[in-house]
Parts: sequence; structure tokens; C-alpha cells
Amino acid sequence: MPHETNSQKTSIITITGIVQGVGFRPFVWQLANDMGLKGEVLNNGQGVQIILNLKGDEQGKFLNRLETETPPLAKITKIEITEVPQFQKFQSFKIRPSEQGEMKTQISPDAATCKACIKEITSPKEHRYNYPFTNCTHCGPRLSIIYEAPYDRATTSMAPFKMCDKCQKEYEDPSDRRFHAQPIACSTCGPELELKWLCQTTQPSILINQGEPIKVAADLIKAGFIGAIKGLGGFHLSCLASEGKLVEELRRRKKRSNKAFALMCRDCAQAKNYGFFSTEALTLLESPAAPIVLVEKTCQKLPKAIAPGLHEVGIMLPNTPLHHLLLAEFDEPLIMTSGNLSNMPQLITNEEAQTELANVADFALLNNRLITNRVDDSVVRISHGKSSMLRRARGYAPAPIPLPKGFEKAPDIIACGAELKSTFCMVKNQEAILSQHLGDLEHVPTFEAYQNTIALYTDLFEFQPELRVIDEHPEYLSSKLGMEQSVKDQIPLVKVQHHHAHMASALGESGHGFNEENCLGLILDGIGFGEDQTIWGGELLYGNYAEFKRIGAFEEVALLGGSAAVKEPWRNLFAHCEGAIGWEALQNKFSDLPVFKYMSEKPLPTLRTMMKKGINSPLSSSCGRLFDAVAASLEISIDQVTYEGEAAMQLEALVSKDLYLELPEDELYKAEYKCEGQLIKVNFAPLWKELFKDLSKKKSKNFIATKFHKSLTYILLDWIKLSVHTLNLGKKPSGSDSNLKIALSGGCFQNNTLLENLALLLEKNGFKPIIQTELPANDGGISYGQALIAAAKHLTAKQT
Ligand SMILES: [Zn+2]
Ligand SMILES: [Zn+2]
Repeated sequence: MPHETNSQKTSIITITGIVQGVGFRPFVWQLANDMGLKGEVLNNGQGVQIILNLKGDEQGKFLNRLETETPPLAKITKIEITEVPQFQKFQSFKIRPSEQGEMKTQISPDAATCKACIKEITSPKEHRYNYPFTNCTHCGPRLSIIYEAPYDRATTSMAPFKMCDKCQKEYEDPSDRRFHAQPIACSTCGPELELKWLCQTTQPSILINQGEPIKVAADLIKAGFIGAIKGLGGFHLSCLASEGKLVEELRRRKKRSNKAFALMCRDCAQAKNYGFFSTEALTLLESPAAPIVLVEKTCQKLPKAIAPGLHEVGIMLPNTPLHHLLLAEFDEPLIMTSGNLSNMPQLITNEEAQTELANVADFALLNNRLITNRVDDSVVRISHGKSSMLRRARGYAPAPIPLPKGFEKAPDIIACGAELKSTFCMVKNQEAILSQHLGDLEHVPTFEAYQNTIALYTDLFEFQPELRVIDEHPEYLSSKLGMEQSVKDQIPLVKVQHHHAHMASALGESGHGFNEENCLGLILDGIGFGEDQTIWGGELLYGNYAEFKRIGAFEEVALLGGSAAVKEPWRNLFAHCEGAIGWEALQNKFSDLPVFKYMSEKPLPTLRTMMKKGINSPLSSSCGRLFDAVAASLEISIDQVTYEGEAAMQLEALVSKDLYLELPEDELYKAEYKCEGQLIKVNFAPLWKELFKDLSKKKSKNFIATKFHKSLTYILLDWIKLSVHTLNLGKKPSGSDSNLKIALSGGCFQNNTLLENLALLLEKNGFKPIIQTELPANDGGISYGQALIAAAKHLTAKQT
């Protein structure tokens, strides 16, 4: 061997994680050249492999920079180093063609325009000045343009655009930030904009086919028109946010009466004028995912119609060059809400937008790059100091979620999710791939998209399930489809209880291991199918992934009219009060209250008969319906809700933070606890009696809403303490409480007042609350929990 080996060695560094298609090889090439190192880098089946000649402390320095200067979209999960026994001398540093077995299964989420690309589109001297489809390996479309694996230009909707010489050169140049950037484009060769007038009844005074489409679109919006704008994962509807009448007109045309509209702000400075942003919230806002961030409204000038009855507003920053260029034309935010008719999925094709939005938008800003997968805007807020996902889609999906310890031998699983806010989840190679939010399956186009997306992910991730998991609810379309499919593929089917899946979802993302101790799950939800054939939704569970026991529940209340009770909060007010105290007794005592006048016009005797005879009034322990009932008692959304959770959200908006802190503990509403065997039930009769007294004392809605929220946290705490004590749970041999974990999940935990205050209270009382952060606490996170439960059952069966 040459004597060089004394000072030099050859090392192989293997890097796994999200390292392909994110500019990792050019990054390594630049780093090696910068440090004067020789060797090569390539993609292979594990990830990225680097072979280097190293001496002295070069290895440490190289690894340090590798980990600290990682490209924005890359995520290193593991670095392995081996030394080659035989010294292999390199003359330079090269990017070697990929080896056979290159990972086909890496699709990164779509990413908002990076700083370097923003600089290019805003610098007049640059080739891509004003070009709305500029991107590079650090940013741009991914999931929203792919048809099939592997991720390559030919398998994306960029295939029809033949690269010009300039783009080709950049694509092939390892030192360029567009090296192997599949969606690379410029104004010479890439997609183009097209502006179309849609409105049949009016004509704009602005000539729409003259001038830059973005500038004309901006002029139209400034003139008070509503535009349909094709974004990254679907169409948006956009108009001036400052004009209340216009926002109301958009609501009328879109047939969406109350659900909040999001705002798009030009930059952080502008965003801060409209909402309160903590440092954490700003980081989220500016992240490559560029989600809608829910923050406290601070600008009183914003029209009420943007988020009727709510205290928060959803704000996002531009996520494509098109949005940057458009927003640069305005000194104020724009409404940027999904381009669809109420309850339908966001539209993605030019044709659909022109036909279905013809009566909604006045004009459409189209382009000729196809969106292959609908990817809605993600919605996140900061809760208890951490990010808390409300809707996981653009910018997040399909990034893998690790499985907790102990699941290393999990089989390949597909979990079908629930019915509302649907997602599905695939487990493969010790990772979970959760689909983007797909919506409510009861709408035919959504159910079709759900099935197509399963097919796409199956192909993208070369997935062959060994197990299929469904919710126990036999009527969920996801359950029916799952049953059909498992007969077809002849693979075992596992049914998972809805709230157990919520619990497992929270535990799993917190890293709670397969073999760790049992813990509690406090699941506060709308409705889900229970094991005893009743409808659950206010549950205290004890157990783990493989098994659970229901140890507590809210006392059942009738859902009068079945699904009608979900839409009409007054039904829940009647059912709660009739069940707890008797409506007539209340009415006799508090007949002056306006709520009784309202209720007197409802067919109460019929409902009473239905309740008594159990006709179309299934029993439910739902926490969501309790919120509806309390909101209705304050005449909030009493008649009808237009979207899930509306009444509860409006009730939460009335909470006063100062009053919350001031209210003494001993003056709060109380509940009663009843032991039924091993099950402790919560009865809210005492709460209702006091609440009506407060109403008759003319206490304000803010007071009662605040008192209810605070009372509920103490009622829940007492319930948990009583259950732990009665069942002697979580005791260590010494007898001291063992810092018992409590998974908090279910749709009601999207109520931030409830979540943050309950988490604090539980911590103060020696418990360890587990909060959902990366996955939604609502049904959007359920499929991940389902997959973990099925894996755990499978692993347990194998052990025994
Ligand atoms: Zn970029
Ligand atoms: Zn080009």
C-alpha cells in the first residue's frame, strides 16, 4: 500500500432520511469542494452515499457542516460511517450517476418559494425576473405534480415542457441549486399564465388580454372583482379583504355562510398588523410548508364577515412565485379561500374552475401546468408552546412520521381513517405515511379523490399491505371500502374503536413506546361508534396500543333526530336539560329568559316522546354536543351550525382571558360522578342548574362562556383523579403517583382554551398530558392511530 494511507483514509458515509430530490448531492458537492475534499456522492437504495478521502480532523468538520448546513427540505435521520480497508485515491469530487435500487419511495411535500428564488423573481436583471413558476431543489411543487413513481420530470405534469438550453444546463450542473430540480422552468420553456373573464353579466373596463396577467389580475381585484386563482395544490378564490361587502358577496356566491376565510399577507410585517404572532407562530408562518397560521385577531378594522363570531384569524404568506408577485401589487392582505362550492373539494383543473366557478368568480387566473393531486392549505396554530396541527396537507404530506419504539417489526399496514376530515395511513419500513387531508367522504368527489389518492400512494410508495384497518363504524364509507378491498386482496381486516385510535394517535406521535406502561386517554370528541353500540364522545380510556378499557364516560344524552342533532344545537340544549333536570322544571323557574321563548316554538312534546320511546334518538356521551348545548343556552348558533364545531368555536371566542384567571375555583360549575361498576360517569345536572341561575342573574355571555370553559377543566381533573384513585391506576410500588401519562385527543381539543388550560392543570397535579402536535387531534389524525393499534395487536399475537 502507498504510504499515503498513513495520513489518509477512505470513508463511506451513508445518509438516510429525506435526502433525495431535495438538492442534497449538489450540497455535498459544494461542501466537499469548499473543504478541498476528494471523492464522490451518489443516490442509492438507502439514501445518499458519500465516499471521501479524509485525513486528520476533516471527518469531524465535514460531518459537522453536513448536519448544520443541510438544505432546507432535507431531513437527515441517520448517518453511518464505515472505513474502507483499502485506500482508494480520488483526484476530484464528483457526483456519480445513481446506482440501481435508487429509492423510488421519496416524495417530498410541496414547498414554498425559497429566499434565493424570491430574490431572482424580484431582480430585474435576472433571467427569471417576474416568472411565476420559478423553483429550485429547495422549493416548488412536488406532491401536487406527480403522477407516479419514481419522482422524475417525465412522471410529473412538467413532462410536456421541454427544458430550454439554459434550464437544461442548470439541471445538469452539480454546482447549481437547480441540479436535478425536476420542475425547473423559466419563461422560455415553462408553464404560462392565462387570464380569462368568467362573468356573463358584467364586463370589466380593464382590458384583460393586454399586459402582464398578474398585473391585470391585481387591477381587477383592486377594482372589486373576485378572482379564481390557480395555486400550488388547487384553486383559491381571492378578493380584497378590507371590503366587508365584497367578502359578504363572496360568501353569498360560494354558498358558505360562516366558516372562516383565510388571509394571505405579503410578508411577516404585514401579517403582524392583523394578528398576534408569537416567535413560534412567526417561525411557522415563514416555514417552507407556509401553512395558514391561526392567531388572535388584532386588527379591529377587518370586516366581521372574514371569520364571523371567531376571535382568531387564519393568515398565510405567499407560497408560490405567482402569489409573491400578485401580493406585491397590494398594500393590504387578500382573501385566499379554497376555490370550491360549499362542502365540495377544492377544484384543480382549468376546465372545472371555468365551469363550476363561473357564478362565483368574475375572472380566473389559469396556467397550463396540471395539478395532479389536490393538496389543500394546511392549518396550524401554536398551542401550549408547540405547533398544533388542525389540517395537515400542503407542505406536510406525505412526509413520513416515525413509528414509536417497539414497532420495528410492524407489518405493512393500510389504515383507512374515519369519515370526516378523512386521511389514510400506510405503514412501511418503520415509518407511517399519512395522506394529505382529503375531506368529508360523504361528498362524492371527495370519496373519489380518497380512492384515487390511495391508488397513487400505493404506487408511489410501492406498497403492498399485509393488513387493512378500518373504524368500527359500519356505515363509514372508508369502512365499507376497506371491507370490500380486504375481501378482494384476501388480507386480514382489523376493526379499531374510534376513540382508541384517537388515543393511539396522540401516544404514537409523542414517541410512547410499544412496551411502555399503560396510560390514560381523555378523548373529547364529536361522535364515534362505541364498543357497546352507543355513540361515544366524552371518554376516559385506560390502556395502551394493543388494548384499552373504558373507565369513564359522560352520562349519555339523546341525540334527538340522530344526525339532525349534530346540525341543530337547540336539540342538544333540550336533550341535556330534559335528561339532567327536566325542561319543564327549568322553564317554570326561568321562564323570563329569552332562550325559553325561542325554544317554545320548537316541537318539544314530540321530542320528549321520541326521547322516552327511544325513537330516532340514539344515546351519546359526546363532548361536542355538550358544547353545542351550552352555546345554545347563550343563543349562540342555537338554530343551526353551518360547519362542524361552529357553536363550540363561537363559544370559545367569548372567553375572556382576564376573567378566566380571576374566577375563583370554588365558584365554578360542578358535576356529579357516578360509579357504574368499573365505569365512572360524569353527570352535568349541577352545571346546568347553576348556569341557568347565572343566566337569570343577567350574567354576560362572556362571563358564562368563560366560567363554563374553566369549570370543565376542573370537572375533568376531578374525574381523572377520582378514576385513578378508585381503580388504583398508575401507582408505583412506593404508592406515590407515577406521573401518569394522559393522551388528550379528539376534535374538542382543537379548542385552544380547553387544551392549554387543561394541560397546565394536569401538569400542576402531577400528570403528564400528551398533546397532539404534528397530527390533528380531530379525525384527521385517526388513521395513524388505527395503524399503530393494528400493528400492536399483530405484534402481541406473535409474541404469545
Ligand atoms: Zn428555490
Ligand atoms: Zn427554461
